[in-house]
Amino acid sequence: MKYEIAELDKMVEQLSRDSRGLFNRLYSFEISTGSMDIPDDMENWVKKTFGSVERVENQRIVSIKNKFTGEHSLFNKLRTDRPVEAKSAIELKELKEKENCLFCNPETQTPADVFGRIKGKYCITASNIAKYDSFHSLIIFNEHNPLAIKKEWIEDYLKTAELWFEEVSKSDVEKKLRKFLLWNCLWRSGASIIHGHIQLTAAEERYGKLEVLEKAAADYKREFNSSYIEDLYKVHKSLGLASENKGDRIFVYLTPVKEKEIFVISKARKSDDMADTIYKLLRSYLNMGVQSFNLVIFQLGGYHIARLVDRGSLGDRNSDIGAMELYAASVISSDPFKLAQVLLSKNSKSQAPNSKQI
Ligand SMILES: [Zn+2]
Repeated sequence: MKYEIAELDKMVEQLSRDSRGLFNRLYSFEISTGSMDIPDDMENWVKKTFGSVERVENQRIVSIKNKFTGEHSLFNKLRTDRPVEAKSAIELKELKEKENCLFCNPETQTPADVFGRIKGKYCITASNIAKYDSFHSLIIFNEHNPLAIKKEWIEDYLKTAELWFEEVSKSDVEKKLRKFLLWNCLWRSGASIIHGHIQLTAAEERYGKLEVLEKAAADYKREFNSSYIEDLYKVHKSLGLASENKGDRIFVYLTPVKEKEIFVISKARKSDDMADTIYKLLRSYLNMGVQSFNLVIFQLGGYHIARLVDRGSLGDRNSDIGAMELYAASVISSDPFKLAQVLLSKNSKSQAPNSKQI
C-alpha cells in the first residue's frame, strides 16, 4: 500500500501496539484543514495551477514534531501531492567553466595547512582561507564539476578527510577534537565556489545543534533506558521509511529540516566505510534531479551519522529558507513516504530510473 504524509494518522493507527507506543513517545503530530474562499475570477487560474478549486479551498496540513530534539516540520498536501520525478541530468554551462577556477589549481591558488597537504588519489587538502573554526580545511576534488560523482572518488574524499582528522588530532593532543565533515554542493546550499569540495572542521566545543541532539539522546537514555538513535530508526522502519545498505541504516526523516532529508546511522569506525551508502544516496538524489544539496557527517555515541538534504533548483532566485525555518518550523513540499518509495524500495520500478541501486 502506498501511503502519503497526509495519511499519517491512518498509518499510525495501523501500527502494532509497541510500534505505535514508540512512535507516540518520539513524535507528536496534528492534522488540520486550512480553508479559504476562491473568488470566481480566480477559478480558472486555480484549476490550471492546482488541478481543482476544492483542493485549494480545503488544504490538509500535517504538523509533526520530534519531542526530544524539537525538530518540527509542516507539510501541506497541496505542495506534497507532486510525485517524485526523475529528471534528466542538468547541463549548466557554469559547471564546466574552469577558467579562473582557483580550485582547479589548488597547490598554487589555495593555502596549505601548517602541517602541509594530504593528497588523495582524486583530491587534495587545503586550508580554508577564511576559517570559522581554528581547524577548518577543505578536501578539493580533482574533478571540477561537483555533480560528477563516482563511488571510488567519494571513498577517496572520505579517506583523505579521515587522514586530515588524524593529522589535526596529532597537532593538538591536549584537546579532544570532534570531527565534522560538511559538503555544501553548489550555490543553493551555501557554497561560494562551484568546484567540488568538502569542508572539514575539528573543534573541542560541541556545535550547538549537535549538542541538542546529544542531550536529547542522553535524556532519552535516562528516561527510557533505551537508545534514542536505535528507537528513532525503529519508528521509521515501522512506517516503511527505512532500509539498509551494507550495514548502514538509512531512513527518510519524518521531521526534515528541508526537502528530502535522509538520515544515515552507521556503526562504521571511519566515515569512508560509509562511502558505498553515501554514493548510492547521492546518485539517487541526482537521478531525481536534485541539483544542490547539503551533506554532513559527524559522530554521536558509537555512531557515525550522515544527514543530507535537497536545497532546490539552481534556477530559483528565492531562498528555500525563510523566517519560518530560521525561527519556527520547517515548511516542507516533499512527501517522505513518496521519497521512501522511490529511494528505498529495492524492487521499485518507480519514477527514478536508478532507484533500484538503493
Ligand atoms: Zn575548478
